Amino acid sequence: MEECPDCGSVTFRGQWAIDGARTLPEAALMLREYANELEDLAAEGFVLSEAIEHDYGCAVFPGADEEIEGEP
Ligand SMILES: [Zn+2]
Repeated sequence: MEECPDCGSVTFRGQWAIDGARTLPEAALMLREYANELEDLAAEGFVLSEAIEHDYGCAVFPGADEEIEGEP
């Protein structure tokens, strides 16, 4: 998962999420942690820029270029 320093968008790939796991429980844990990271992004207000294709996801912060007014 990498955040662009310029626009703040986050790019990620699913396939490396369990890379390096040596046991099944470790792989499961890594997958859960990865899922948590994605949920954290969503909780922060990030959305996918488009549907994930070929395992490549890009999360953007909607209205990052615009002033957001009247946020609840
Ligand atoms: Zn960028």
